[in-house]
Amino acid sequence: MTTPEKLESGALSWMDVDDIEARVRALESLLVERGLAESQAVDAVVNSFETDMGPMNGARVVARAWTDPEFKEWLLRDGTAAIASMGFTGLQSEHILAVENTDSVHNVIVCTLCSCYPWTLLGIPPAWFKYPQYRARVVKEPRAVLSEFGVELGADVEIAVWDTSAELRYLVVPQRPAGTEDWTADQLAEIVSRDSMVGVALVEVPA
Ligand code: FE
Repeated sequence: MTTPEKLESGALSWMDVDDIEARVRALESLLVERGLAESQAVDAVVNSFETDMGPMNGARVVARAWTDPEFKEWLLRDGTAAIASMGFTGLQSEHILAVENTDSVHNVIVCTLCSCYPWTLLGIPPAWFKYPQYRARVVKEPRAVLSEFGVELGADVEIAVWDTSAELRYLVVPQRPAGTEDWTADQLAEIVSRDSMVGVALVEVPA
């Protein structure tokens, strides 16, 4: 998805990506050279970020909630335990509150202080999640920010903004789209996007 222009302005302009990559490589070689880290350990961590965590995990939780009413009830009552039962726990996902979108409430997540985010379920946060523009504006004018992401909500839909902290992370359970009544959980998981679980997108059936 494209990041809204207003959120882009000013972001990372003081340091480009090549610069960051060069710094990371320099840091890794120094750590290895001084015996503070092993290349294999660094590779294992990077690999874990690339394969163990990511939005495919959150999507499986949402798809199961859509297809298993008992699990959904558990998820909304005790997100941490319900999610841990599927094997998703640890790094930045120790305590999770799942919030459900309905016809009357739409939930959206922010970390106003920094960029706390449920890594295990959603992966590494997108750049815009860290921008001061997103963090400040989504609290003050959530409807306008959602509209810039392409989410137009009816005037009667209340928007609940959840401020994540180091202690508590949120997972939005988006609304299941119409026309998917006979889909399996695996099929449903394919269409649950990262952004829909942050609350800045709706889940739609691909054309
Ligand atoms: Fe934070």
